[in-house]
Amino acid sequence: MGLPYFDGIADIKSKRIVTRGIPLELLSKSGVCDANATHTSKHNPTIGNSFAFKLLLDQLLQEQSDRISVLFNSMACGVETDAAGQRIESVQVANKDGLVHIVPKIVVDCTGDADVTAWAGASFEQNDVVQPLTLHFRIGNVRHEANLSQNCRAALAQAEAAGRLPYYYGPGVMFLYHKSEVYIHGVRVPANPTDAADLSRAEMQGRADAWAMFEAWKQNVPGFEEAYFIEAYPWIGVRESRRLIGQYVLSEEDLMQGHRFDDAIATGCWYLDLHPNKTTVGSANDFQPQKVQPEPYDIPYRALLPREIDNLLVAGRCHSATRGAHASTRVTATAMAMGEAAGQAAAMAAAANTSPQEIGGVAVREALSARGAGPHTEG
Ligand SMILES: Cc1cc2nc3c(=O)[nH]c(=O)nc-3n(C[C@H](O)[C@H](O)[C@H](O)COP(=O)(O)OP(=O)(O)OC[C@H]3O[C@@H](n4cnc5c(N)ncnc54)[C@H](O)[C@@H]3O)c2cc1C
Repeated sequence: MGLPYFDGIADIKSKRIVTRGIPLELLSKSGVCDANATHTSKHNPTIGNSFAFKLLLDQLLQEQSDRISVLFNSMACGVETDAAGQRIESVQVANKDGLVHIVPKIVVDCTGDADVTAWAGASFEQNDVVQPLTLHFRIGNVRHEANLSQNCRAALAQAEAAGRLPYYYGPGVMFLYHKSEVYIHGVRVPANPTDAADLSRAEMQGRADAWAMFEAWKQNVPGFEEAYFIEAYPWIGVRESRRLIGQYVLSEEDLMQGHRFDDAIATGCWYLDLHPNKTTVGSANDFQPQKVQPEPYDIPYRALLPREIDNLLVAGRCHSATRGAHASTRVTATAMAMGEAAGQAAAMAAAANTSPQEIGGVAVREALSARGAGPHTEG
């Protein structure tokens, strides 16, 4: 669960769009830019309303109802492989139908945490310490007073010193959806996101910290006197957990040196955005001396392919990359572009009754390119 920002859609310096395809379609259908735009007005455009965005997604899914089945609130919870451990035979899903066994031709793991990948026995890595978790929340009836950011910052420093707030960052106090409503990113909870008990503890801590921030501002910050807590997001957001160790492990050297790949299927462009597990005041990171910013770079198809399993693709923030490279590739539009490429590859492999490996990245890239998606590093 991230902010409604489409980071990764456009090069930070030139604002040239480097991620087209579905992310650009969603932005244009949300009225943020034209469908054939070459540049965005901001490098990190936002959608105007998260509920309207959900309606748009519902509508786009319904338009494809003769081709896809939508199962909300369905959690993959187990995997069966063949005796050789090379093919996923079935994925167990828990939902209102009970425990459902789905027999797939191809599986695309976009769980963020590489759940299916891990349970299928494919190689992955999760660092002992991963980036902290964050619960976003919104506060209404706030007046935009002078020095609001500085005052919010000072109130959090006071709350931390008094032991009411273990950690925080920024805070980002943004008038995003309405002139009297602020969207907050500032909660920071260290945790292990693939441990169910620790994830639950983190979510409770996130709620407690969000409320502590709200109270600190209401009591101390001019503009918050009549404010009320609208809502926090339904679950705490995870930035980093398991990462596939795939047929290619994208590295920060690849990003910084602009390594080109024949099988590139997406373009990344975000800086190496690694949140530390401690308070950082005024910013999310503690860059010394400045942000590490690559030029737009290639993401190869092989970074979506496991080494061991034939009928699995892994996309989004659990694809195959070093921790440093992942700090850039994990952002929203880039994750979406990888998902689109994996979907394209899965459809091609299923139609040809073969594996994503056999289809190969060059063919996937060509198919993406034919519909205006895929990598856009040149120019
Ligand atoms: C707090 C926070 C702030 C962020 N801010 C920004 C920002 O400002 N700009 C930006 O571009 N990016 C931001 N990001 C990063 C961005 O939101 C994510 O990295 C990006 O959403 C990754 O997308 P994903 O689809 O790979 O994973 P996720 O967004 O994590 O999606 C994974 C999905 O899989 C589902 N799932 C998980 N396990 C299972 C299972 N076993 N079975 C079925 N479904 C499952 C989850 O419910 C979820 O819907 C932020 C991330 C966080 C956590």
